[in-house]
Amino acid sequence: MENSYVDLHVHTKYSDGAFTPEEAVRYAKKVGLTAISITDHDTTEGLPEAIKAGSELDIEVIPGVELSVAVQTSIEQEIHILGYFINWEDSFFQKKLKIFQKAREQRANQILEKLKKLGIIVDEKKLSEIVGVGVFGRLHFAKVLVETQVAKNINEVFNKYLGYGKPAYVPKLRLTPDEAIKMIISVGGVPILAHPHCNDITQNTIESLVKQGLKGIEVWHIKHTNSETEKLKKIAEKFEIISTGGSDCHGVMIKGMPAIMGTVKVSYEIVTELKKCRDNIDKVNTQLFA
Ligand SMILES: [Zn+2]
Ligand SMILES: [Zn+2]
Repeated sequence: MENSYVDLHVHTKYSDGAFTPEEAVRYAKKVGLTAISITDHDTTEGLPEAIKAGSELDIEVIPGVELSVAVQTSIEQEIHILGYFINWEDSFFQKKLKIFQKAREQRANQILEKLKKLGIIVDEKKLSEIVGVGVFGRLHFAKVLVETQVAKNINEVFNKYLGYGKPAYVPKLRLTPDEAIKMIISVGGVPILAHPHCNDITQNTIESLVKQGLKGIEVWHIKHTNSETEKLKKIAEKFEIISTGGSDCHGVMIKGMPAIMGTVKVSYEIVTELKKCRDNIDKVNTQLFA
């Protein structure tokens, strides 16, 4: 496993990605990775297929999830918390995820209504085709609006309609950080803060999340610049937490273009660190529930 690379942040069709879980694993093989984590938004539906494909293709698939969380700083901010090595089949864990999936469906209807009021009729047939087996997200709406030429590109959709504070914005039902961290730890998983820089997360917020049980931060991410990565690495060292990384690959977004999986270089050593952390969490959980 020495000198091998991994991608710890990959989405599939089961949330808002374009790859099926099997395609994601095949892509990982193609780009020479030894392990990936499937981290769909608020769902673990893609895991069985990915794990099966992983065992056939000799790619280690780390069961993961990416939870939407609201933090209260001076304003309310959305952050994402990744959970690695979760015991995803746990029925209580699944019950909690279902609540969030239901809320996403309701949110989709509210977005439809808001867009209608703006004079934009979304092609619902196309929307359900694009969502497929996934759970509703704003990216699905954005894709339909681009395909039906309401907007030129995905960024325009977010800037004009769906982004925070824009006329068709609808807030999401979100966990508190404490709930999300506990939810992951209770099923033996390792909670990691996703892409801190994209959400303008301050060192103070990271410190308070660490006090609540956060075990690491995603230092390497496709949207982090070199200097941001350096800064985050120092923060991780200061709080003695794990530095993880991933591309946040959503599959092939533009036809003919390669996917970004594997373009953020993350060494297999990180997986080893995560496993050590998981073993400690398991030990504490066993003591707690013994
Ligand atoms: Zn995210
Ligand atoms: Zn993500």
